[in-house]
Amino acid sequence: MGEDLERLKQRIPLLEYLQRHNWKPCRAGSRQELVGLCPLHQETCPSFYVNTGKNLFYCHGCGRGGDLIRFVQLFFDLSFRQTVALLEQELLPAPVSQLLEQTAAFYQLQLHYHPEATRYLDHRGLHDPALIEELGIGYAPGGNLRSHLAALGYSFDLLLNTGLLNGHGRDAFCRRVIFPCCEHCRVVNLYGRAIGAAFPHRLLPRSKGGLFAWESVRTFSTVILVEGLFDLAVLWQAGFRNTTCAIGTQLTPAQLTQLADQPDRTVYLVFDQDENQAGQKASHQLALRLQDAGLAARIVQLPHGYDPNGYFVGGATVADFTECLERAQPL
Ligand SMILES: [Zn+2]
Repeated sequence: MGEDLERLKQRIPLLEYLQRHNWKPCRAGSRQELVGLCPLHQETCPSFYVNTGKNLFYCHGCGRGGDLIRFVQLFFDLSFRQTVALLEQELLPAPVSQLLEQTAAFYQLQLHYHPEATRYLDHRGLHDPALIEELGIGYAPGGNLRSHLAALGYSFDLLLNTGLLNGHGRDAFCRRVIFPCCEHCRVVNLYGRAIGAAFPHRLLPRSKGGLFAWESVRTFSTVILVEGLFDLAVLWQAGFRNTTCAIGTQLTPAQLTQLADQPDRTVYLVFDQDENQAGQKASHQLALRLQDAGLAARIVQLPHGYDPNGYFVGGATVADFTECLERAQPL
């Protein structure tokens, strides 16, 4: 294990990894030392040091430091095991991303054979076939994924390790509507929403990647951020193509970096208006984080008890939602 980790770190130099995630050194401290803004916390004065000789980082602002694995763990908010798995997969990107791609394509095809899935989409307010196609939405009926992927030559172990199959060898996404999560045109994870009584949300045990559909949303200077993919889907359907989603209310530092890539951006937070105020609290905390990152944040209030999906399903129009956006006040 220790030797494998050393090899992993040697094959992906820390500096190269940071630069792949848009880190720019501002100046050199010494021959082997570079300094720049910390990707792990908000700052205006560079205090993030990278020693390229030792492959280590240290931030004098947030006091965190370590090697590549530590950095990835903090940046994507992953466990140690998930981090090692993610880096290993980055080293052999073709087979796993190909596997996820083929799985997503298979699920997408299944959607058309299973009326319970299209009925579910309809019930969640998603009617536009072109949009369903564009988002790559699929359905996992259960019972046929394993044989399909085995026929394509994927080993049982790989399917288990990626989490597509559970310990019993069954489709882990059984009876779920599937959204592929893509990054740089590659499928990096799959999100499955249960249509039955199972726990509603499921992702593969790997990074969910950056913000959903960020490649197309990043061109907007005003962005709408929602909690769930069904919120995003109905908003896109209504024409709000500047909507993105973090799948949940917590943003990883990587996702925050994406939002901050345009300094004058305004972010409208439209989280669930739930009884226990969890959504409201999360929006408030996130709005403060966004402001620290130099962005303008506005918290959008929907009528009580609604999330954006439920609001549209309940009959809200584009004009209603626009009015909610216009009413949103800066903090
Ligand atoms: Zn820091």
